[in-house]
Amino acid sequence: MLNSGSAASWLTQSAFRVLDFFLPRLCLFCGGVVGEEAGAAVCPDCEGQIEWVESPVCSCCGLIFPSREGEDRLCGPCQTDPPPFARARAATVYDGPAADAVKRFKFGRRMAYLPVLQHWLKRPRCRELVAAADILIPVPLHRRRLQSRGFNQALLLARAFPEARLERETLARVRHTDPQIGLNPKERRDNVRRAFAVPRPEEVKGKNVLLVDDLYTTGATVRECARVLRRAGAAQVEVLTVARVKHE
Ligand SMILES: [Zn+2]
Ligand SMILES: [Zn+2]
Repeated sequence: MLNSGSAASWLTQSAFRVLDFFLPRLCLFCGGVVGEEAGAAVCPDCEGQIEWVESPVCSCCGLIFPSREGEDRLCGPCQTDPPPFARARAATVYDGPAADAVKRFKFGRRMAYLPVLQHWLKRPRCRELVAAADILIPVPLHRRRLQSRGFNQALLLARAFPEARLERETLARVRHTDPQIGLNPKERRDNVRRAFAVPRPEEVKGKNVLLVDDLYTTGATVRECARVLRRAGAAQVEVLTVARVKHE
């Protein structure tokens, strides 16, 4: 679903892909030369600035505990108000180069960042959730947002796992919503209420579903998706995102 603007940017990206073939690979973050053996176009210095999500985290919502001591355990909010998903996990903390990569990819349409983000999603902690899923469902965009952005970032990220079954039409965004940026947690929940639907519940009945998205902020969007999927009969819903906001 490319409009003329994104068709032009696609052409530019294709030209860059041809150039990539002849030029030394440069780090996407600092412009330094990256060795051929690197998994993605990130130099070791910039890679070293990425904060990976490590235990201890909330065993349910994946909240990163400020204290780096102890094991994974349930956070307070998940004890009093359990989310409709079983686990939410992310590869990186949304900060530094990881936050830049997510923003440049999603809002700047810089496709060069996609393989980097996909590479991060393949960390063992994330792969574990993919292996446990029957189907992967990218958080859908409303038709209007899809037309203005030109692509669904969640769908492109979910393609990091060609071995998994990807269902792109099972969950539908039936209501256009304002961006969640700048809203407080309650406003975020209200904003996405009744925004999603499962048109054919038989596609999720009894299945372990893994929702894929770029960023976990308060979890309002994936909570609403998970609620709708569970109501449609999904046995379990889990959530995988590239990055997660760290609440200090
Ligand atoms: Zn670098
Ligand atoms: Zn929690």
